[in-house]
Amino acid sequence: MTFEVKILGSNSASFAFGRHHTAQLLNSNQNLFLIDCGEATQIQVLRHQVRYSRINHIFISHLHGDHYLGLIGLIFTYHLQGRIDELHIYGPKGLDEIITIQLKYSDSRLNYNLHFHQIEEENQMLFENEDIEVRPIVMDHRIPCFGFVFQEKHRKHKLNREILPKTLSKENLLDLKQGLDIVDEDGKFWSNSSLATPPNVPRKYVYCADTRYHAEIRPEILNANLLYHEATFLNDMQTRAESTFHTTAQEAGKFAANHSVKQLLIGHFSSRYFDVNPFQVEAKLEFENTLLAIEGQTFEVMPVQPVKVNVNHVEIINP
Ligand SMILES: [Zn+2]
Ligand SMILES: [Zn+2]
Repeated sequence: MTFEVKILGSNSASFAFGRHHTAQLLNSNQNLFLIDCGEATQIQVLRHQVRYSRINHIFISHLHGDHYLGLIGLIFTYHLQGRIDELHIYGPKGLDEIITIQLKYSDSRLNYNLHFHQIEEENQMLFENEDIEVRPIVMDHRIPCFGFVFQEKHRKHKLNREILPKTLSKENLLDLKQGLDIVDEDGKFWSNSSLATPPNVPRKYVYCADTRYHAEIRPEILNANLLYHEATFLNDMQTRAESTFHTTAQEAGKFAANHSVKQLLIGHFSSRYFDVNPFQVEAKLEFENTLLAIEGQTFEVMPVQPVKVNVNHVEIINP
């Protein structure tokens, strides 16, 4: 199942050196979720050939302009293109008012329904479908700011149909899908692993928007398969990072290591830096598996290989 994130914008407050304000596109089983919507988001989706008419859910972390100023433009473009599908927007208090007043004073009535969902508190269920659920986490920023945890749901075991014996009942099949061993109608025992394949361990993508660094452990972030974390400054600007409620690359690396994540993706680079490679070098001092959020690139939320447990040995499936 597809679970990947495409970077549309990777810079902080100003455009610089071809980098744009924050925006990401998460693809979960072909459902597209937009995370933040900086000013150039429309241009970026066209440039990177994203079918953005398929975006039905937009998550806005906070109301600093570099994270949402592209939203009203996108809303109008959808209208002009004749969109009829509902659009759901999740964001902090005030976003609804900002958008509604712009629609009011331009006397605009959209062709489609716009639904605002105000983020009230950490861990609130914002969205769920059969594949994933999305919950917010509180960031430490100058104004209210949220990150988002995109957690895949547990899937059922897959039956190996070509080898299923004829003696199995409906209940047997349901039990196998749940991962249970069974006894068939003839009284014969079958281990689950002999007839079914376990699903991948559910994956987790965590998006940490603008925030100051903290050493404490956040349980919601632990063991994320992919963690995006802002890294606005290099280490020599640590004092400035602290005073402006931002994080350095090395701190982002430390945060990833503290949370035992599998991969770290860093972005939200300050426009004072032309070359972003030193961000990766500094983050790697703390966490080796660090990647740079380069615009146009897509990063798979990599699965952890499932472990198939048999009676006498443990084997890795699809090594
Ligand atoms: Zn920002
Ligand atoms: Zn901010």
